[in-house]
This record gives sequence, C-alpha cells and structure tokens, in this order.
Amino acid sequence: MDITAKSKTTDIKFDVETIRKDFPILYTQVNGHPLVYFDNAATSQKPLVVINAIEEYYKATNSNVHRGLHYLSNKATNEFEESRKIVAAHLNASHDEIIYTRGTTESINLVAFSFGEAFVKSGDEIIISYMEHHSNIVPWQMLCERKGASLKVIPITEKGELKLDEYKKLLSSKTKLVAVTHVSNTLGTINPVEEIIEAAHAKNIPVLLDGAQAVPHLKIDVKKLDVDFYCFSGHKVFGPTGIGILYGKTKWLNQMPPYQGGGEMIKEVTFEKTTYNDAPLRFEAGTPNIEASIVLAKAINYINGIGLDAIATYEHELLQYGTEKLQQINGVRLIGTAAHKSSVISFVVDGTHPSDIGILLDKQGVAVRTGHHCTQPLVGFYKIPGTVRASFAFYNTFEEIDIFVKALNKAISMLR
Ligand code: PMP
Repeated sequence: MDITAKSKTTDIKFDVETIRKDFPILYTQVNGHPLVYFDNAATSQKPLVVINAIEEYYKATNSNVHRGLHYLSNKATNEFEESRKIVAAHLNASHDEIIYTRGTTESINLVAFSFGEAFVKSGDEIIISYMEHHSNIVPWQMLCERKGASLKVIPITEKGELKLDEYKKLLSSKTKLVAVTHVSNTLGTINPVEEIIEAAHAKNIPVLLDGAQAVPHLKIDVKKLDVDFYCFSGHKVFGPTGIGILYGKTKWLNQMPPYQGGGEMIKEVTFEKTTYNDAPLRFEAGTPNIEASIVLAKAINYINGIGLDAIATYEHELLQYGTEKLQQINGVRLIGTAAHKSSVISFVVDGTHPSDIGILLDKQGVAVRTGHHCTQPLVGFYKIPGTVRASFAFYNTFEEIDIFVKALNKAISMLR
C-alpha cells in the first residue's frame, strides 16, 4: 500500500509542518543529509516554548524554593508548585500525590526503597514482567536482596504480549506489589494495564506502572486506572532532562518512610528526633531541580495544545505505514508485533548486526537506537543480540519514513 505523506496528514488534519517549526533541532544536517530523528523513545526533542522557558527561568525567576520570604523566592515557589498542579491535572491526580524526582528511574527506586521498607519482608514476592526496562528490574532485585524477598516474572508470548493467565496465577498472599511497564520501550507493546490492576486489586495488591513510554503518547488518568504508583520522565515528554514524576496514592505515600533525609522533607529536627513532612515534600529532600520542574509544565501544556488524541491517531498512522514498509524488505524480522502498540518499531535484519545497521543509517542522517535498549532479559528471550529501534513522535513524517526505508535498503545491500 502506498500512502503519501500529504494525503495521510490531510486525512487526520494534523499539521505536522507547522509543528516541526517549533523544534529547531529537527532542521539539523547530519553528514550532509537532513536529520531524521527516530530515537524518540530514548529522549524526545524540545519545542521552543520549553527551550525559551529554561532561559526565562534564569533571567527572571531563579531563586531557591520554599525557604525564602523575598520576591524571587516566592515567584520560584509559586511557579514550582503551579507546575506540580499542571502535572497533577494532566494525570487527573491531586497535587499532593505528585512527587518530583530525577526521572522514571528515581521514581521506581524511591518506591522500591520506601514502600519496600514499610511493606516487604522475608518470603514476600514482587511481580514484574519479562519486558521490563532495567530500571524496573534492578531496584526490585536490590529490594529482594535486602529483605530476603523474591522476584516473580510474568512471561510473554512471541508477539511480545504478556501472558495474563500466567500473571494471574502468580498473584498470591505473598505478593506485595506488581510493577509493570505501561508501554514497552523495546517492543512498543501497550499492556492491558486495566486488567492487570483489576486482578491485583482483587487480592488487595498495589500496582506500580512504569509510564516512561506511555505519557508521551497516551492520555493517562490515574484515578480511572486506580493505579497505586505511576512514574514518568520529563525528557521523554518533550521537557527537560533531570526531572521525573512519581504519582502515588496518598494512602501509600503517608505510610512510607522518606527515601532521603535533608532539608525540605522535615517538620522539625532536634538532635534527639526528627519528624517528617507529609507527602510530597517528605520525598523531596534538598534543593530540587527547580528549573526543570517549572519547565515540565510548559512541555505538558504544549502537548495538550496539540491534543493527545490527535497525537495518538497520527502516530498510529506513522506506525502502520512504517510497519508495512519494513515488512516489504527481505530479511527484516519485526520484534514486537502485539495487537496494541505505540509508535515503536524494533527489528533485526538477517545476516547483519543491529549496530552495523545503526552506523550506516547515521551516515545517511537517520538516528535510530540499536542494542538491548536496557532490556537484556527481553532480547535474551528473542535470542538476538539486540534490535534496531525506530521510534516516532508526532513531529515525524511519512516522508521521513520513506527516507529511513531507502537508507535501510542501502545499508542492507552494503552489508550483504
Ligand atoms: N522505563 C522505560 C520503559 C524506559 O523506556 C526508560 C528510558 N529508556 C526508563 C524506564 C528509564 O527512564 P529514565 O532513564 O528517564 O529514568
């Protein structure tokens, strides 16, 4: 099927050319070719509203938060807390359920440490899945080691879907938490998180979702999902690096001990005893990443301005188009063919190594990621050294997919 960029974008009234003008980096030349940026699952590019807001923060707001009475400190604190409200509204949470962290990794580590301290003991079990990013594996392994608990892993099918029947069999009175990814960074699989949560809650087991790959593409409603913890990173949602979010239900957060000690997280300190602040400040020891916290809200407002429904529809078109094109190439094997997918295409090419393909694509201006994508157990499942992964954002185009496919054909012919 031959779909032209024009007819597709017109169909769904998605003005990608105007959107692209918001992202100056997309006009970069790479090795004499226009950049085709298909590494959005690793990090996304930033619109001008985000870039300008960083500069504006240091020109007009910079001061420490929560501690001062002066004008700038109040301004910084107001913007910092206003941003928390915008993030909360975006997830349909209340603002005291939103904790600023460094990223998804820190959000998961925080829960693994603090929830683990409060609720996990020897003999207990934590359930994760086969398709987790290392950041949703290692913190749980560390917790299990500390407590003498054990990790149970939900198996997957060859298509890259969770085996839900097996999952339900793993749930038991020993299970203290289920921690799974909402969307797989390597496979693109969108997991049936409603069903996962429902099954866990039927046994009073809380659920953490790793939303690093979901928040850039899908509308998330933590209340509707009834999820207990939800994590994401600013840099993957068109915002700055060094900022992430942990959503947690208040009923859990206030039962969990602090993750780190220091300023901000206390009510009162004496040498004999310290009392802790309530959530979220209880989990925000020290000076936070003020600039990135404030600017994250600009990124969220930006994607809401385009509309997540429009984004999801357009990206799905890109996914379908890219998938059809790749399937036509001899020797290409797609890794991750779930029925519900986000805009990630992972593949291997017979007789070639993913990194050789990646290098030859880069020579032609195309940025993809190759390797294990921090999911070594998952690539082990497929018995491959890794994949080539093209991941699309709403500023990508059908023409770029054509350029990528042409460049890939050239790379393959050079390698064979
Ligand atoms: N989980 C998933 C599914 C991811 O894709 C990533 C980033 N690749 C992470 C967690 C970790 O995110 P960060 O490095 O921003 O903490």
